[in-house]
Amino acid sequence: MFDFTMSDSQIKLRDEAREFTKWVPRELILAMDAEEIHFPHEYLKECGRRNLLGIRIPAKYGGRGLGWVEDGIVAEEIGVASYSLACLWGVGADIVCEAIVKYGSEELCQEIVVPLLKGDVYAAECLTEPRGGSDFFGATTRARKDGSDWIISGQKRFIVGAEGADWFMIYAVTDPEAPPHKRMTCFMVPKTKGVETKYLYGLMGVRGGGAGRLILDEVRVPERYALNGLNRGFEVFMTNMIPERLGTAAMTIGSVRPALEIATRYTSRRKAFGTEIMNFQAVGFKVADSAMKMDAMRSMAYTTALAIDSGKTDAGRNRRMVSQTKKFITEGAWEVVNNCMQVMGGIGYTNVFPIERILRDIRLSMIWVGSNEIMQHIIQTEWYKESLNSKDDVRDVEMDAIAAFEPDEKIYE
Ligand SMILES: Cc1cc2nc3c(=O)[nH]c(=O)nc-3n(C[C@H](O)[C@H](O)[C@H](O)COP(=O)(O)OP(=O)(O)OC[C@H]3O[C@@H](n4cnc5c(N)ncnc54)[C@H](O)[C@@H]3O)c2cc1C
Repeated sequence: MFDFTMSDSQIKLRDEAREFTKWVPRELILAMDAEEIHFPHEYLKECGRRNLLGIRIPAKYGGRGLGWVEDGIVAEEIGVASYSLACLWGVGADIVCEAIVKYGSEELCQEIVVPLLKGDVYAAECLTEPRGGSDFFGATTRARKDGSDWIISGQKRFIVGAEGADWFMIYAVTDPEAPPHKRMTCFMVPKTKGVETKYLYGLMGVRGGGAGRLILDEVRVPERYALNGLNRGFEVFMTNMIPERLGTAAMTIGSVRPALEIATRYTSRRKAFGTEIMNFQAVGFKVADSAMKMDAMRSMAYTTALAIDSGKTDAGRNRRMVSQTKKFITEGAWEVVNNCMQVMGGIGYTNVFPIERILRDIRLSMIWVGSNEIMQHIIQTEWYKESLNSKDDVRDVEMDAIAAFEPDEKIYE
């Protein structure tokens, strides 16, 4: 967020998040990247202790009860230390808790949300399956009724935090005959008999965050673990798009920010041909373009957050705004980190500076929580709906052309 638009309480919150980010031990970041650690329990514990988990979750469950803007402010700062840590921060406390508070019972809030926001337990979000992630309705994980319980079988993959999770938010087909959006139920599944996780991916980045495969073999759960009742998982999925995409956008800004800071410092000190390399336009302009992009990215993230906080935009417009924000920012961040690496020359490609880790880490942002191709698809769908149905009383500029009244030339078929 821009400091000049923040209230005093937002600045205080940002500074709390900054203090926490400064606390994160460098050894933890390096050990996670080296995969010597598979799940950073102590990180979430400390985050919970500082009341920095669940920024939008009501205070009665241990959150802060604030809005999307505040959530973005914290997400941005959280992203600074490590993208892998930020993913864990977002998935459990932001995404899964949002769904439980909105669609779960009071009992489930007490059972899961309260300990999760203290950092005592973690919950993973599990949509993607081996046979497809983009196609949500293609899920093959099944749940069948047995008495008053449900028995779930199937597999999920690429699940952030699977390795350390105590709970799994699982979408399973409960009515295979129903139309796609009435076919699935979202269950909260504890780590119980029949739940197995495998830490098996050689990831390019976001390492040490427990991303794994999840195998569900005849897992018995009571019906009260279904969020939003039976066959209504689609609504949960739609709701979660907002924290998934807005959160990813904000934390990606935070993660790439240090790359620009490092590159700016480096190019102001490093000399070639007798002058600091920032004086070469090919270098200075890349840094300048990156600074411009960062401000544009931030403007977009917080405008979208403000829109959702305002309650004045409808669901379709929110979907478009979060999807375009996620796409624009993750692609902008990729350009920024590449610029930063480029202006640092060979040293930028080494692990003397963390630019290479940041680059590896944030590459995920264009793929996860819905790939950017899927974002494009949503933007296209919602834009056409919104634009063609618009009732705005505005000037019709189409007629401001010399030959505008030549109907024989306006052929559409
Ligand atoms: C490190 C990591 C962590 C992750 N964490 C989680 C997690 O915690 N929980 C979770 O559920 N998932 C998670 N994912 C999964 C991620 O969200 C999916 O990988 C992603 O949604 C894409 O799904 P897919 O891999 O099955 O690719 P596919 O769906 O097979 O897509 C392959 C390619 O085809 C394109 N494509 C597919 N359909 C269309 C279409 N209709 N139009 C245009 N292009 C299309 C995609 O954009 C992509 O480029 C994670 C992934 C990684 C790598």
